[in-house]
Amino acid sequence: MAITLYSEGAAREVTGSKHVLDIDGTRYLVDCGAFQGKRDECDRKNRALVRDPESIEAVILTHAHFDHCGLLPLLVKRGFKGNIYSTPASRDLANLIMMDSARIQARDAEYLGKQAAKKGGSFNWKPMYDEQDAVEATGQFVTVSYERPIQISRDIKLKFRDAGHILGSATAHVTATDADGRTVRIGFSGDLGRPDKPIIRDPELMDPVDYLLVESTYGDRRHESTVDAMERLAQVVNDTVKRGGKIIIPAFAIERTQELIYYFHMLVDLGRIPKIPIWVDSPMAVNATSIFMVHPECFDNETNEAFIKHHDNPFGFNELHFSTSVDDSKMLNRLDTPAIIMSADGMCEAGRIQHHLIHNISDPRNTILVVGYMAANTLGRRIRDGQKEVRIHGDLFKVKAKVEEIKAFSAHSDYQETWEWMSRMNLSSLKTVFLVHGEDESVEAQKKFLEGKGLKDVRIVEYGQRYEL
Ligand SMILES: [Zn+2]
Repeated sequence: MAITLYSEGAAREVTGSKHVLDIDGTRYLVDCGAFQGKRDECDRKNRALVRDPESIEAVILTHAHFDHCGLLPLLVKRGFKGNIYSTPASRDLANLIMMDSARIQARDAEYLGKQAAKKGGSFNWKPMYDEQDAVEATGQFVTVSYERPIQISRDIKLKFRDAGHILGSATAHVTATDADGRTVRIGFSGDLGRPDKPIIRDPELMDPVDYLLVESTYGDRRHESTVDAMERLAQVVNDTVKRGGKIIIPAFAIERTQELIYYFHMLVDLGRIPKIPIWVDSPMAVNATSIFMVHPECFDNETNEAFIKHHDNPFGFNELHFSTSVDDSKMLNRLDTPAIIMSADGMCEAGRIQHHLIHNISDPRNTILVVGYMAANTLGRRIRDGQKEVRIHGDLFKVKAKVEEIKAFSAHSDYQETWEWMSRMNLSSLKTVFLVHGEDESVEAQKKFLEGKGLKDVRIVEYGQRYEL
């Protein structure tokens, strides 16, 4: 009898994570993420999904990023009836992400329809799924806490451990048994985080495995130390306040915003920055923050020591304000005293951040602070690259605000950090390492690096190719 592994996404690319574990013909899906990037190409790949969703036995979800959970509602819509296993925090965040995606798709369909009508063209793009599909998908979750091994079927035992990537993120340790009683242990890294990130724990050690599927987002890169982030943040705030300006921070609604809140809370408590208003102006970020508040089981020791032990909420303090209405948001545009404004989306391509840029980017007293990845051809990238003039909502704006960047925030381990995580494991039974979730240069560099460390069988996973375990 046979145990086979193959990938229907995140093979030589970073999005669309979908790994299939086939045990004697019964299929399990690890992650069901959406492809992101060029619109038409991704749309086609996302709609292709996977073969026969109705006969997939179960899904294991490593974490709630869109490129890992984004197609669960489509899977359900196409007939998948099984359980979706995740940590409780991942279930809550995935619900937020899936609902948000359903709304964005509905809005896009409406907008594109109007655009086509204006040009007298025809239009037939339909959302992949709607909010009801996302609700159905949420109903199929079965949550499993970290360190709680569970037999999810006759042939699979599953254990989640903290992956240290985002709230609720997990590595999945799977013990598969085929009809002959042969047992194979497979480790899925999911997206692997970095040591010393705020709020969440460091990536935890994985139990011994025979096969390991590892992400390679930064297979060819090293990061700045996470330790410097708070220091740099204080410096940027203090410099800007001296000029009487505002700090505008484009930030992803989930994780990055909460990390910033955490650091600002510490900096205010320590008296390292003045007590100026700090605003979170993004409905999604406000909702995500409330999910963080109800999952203290995901916090690390430092967060427990600094806040929870003193009955203090890491995501609430006097200077922090959550903007919940459009009026709040407009009020911020009129504000003329130093303040910190965090808003989404993280790459400045949509959302309220664009209004904050319009009102603040041409004032030399202000700072635009880049804290996340800015993909090519985005407004955020143009600002980061130092363009003197940028177009927002169709109008040109001179960039006179200071543009600063802190690179220490990445949520993915670099190749050295991945190796540090792997090398703590007992590797004596490890037969093969499979590399996924990285672009060509990245997976190839990671492969060379790991072979240099003495690993004998390191393979780059090719789309659709089957690997017998
Ligand atoms: Zn991720």
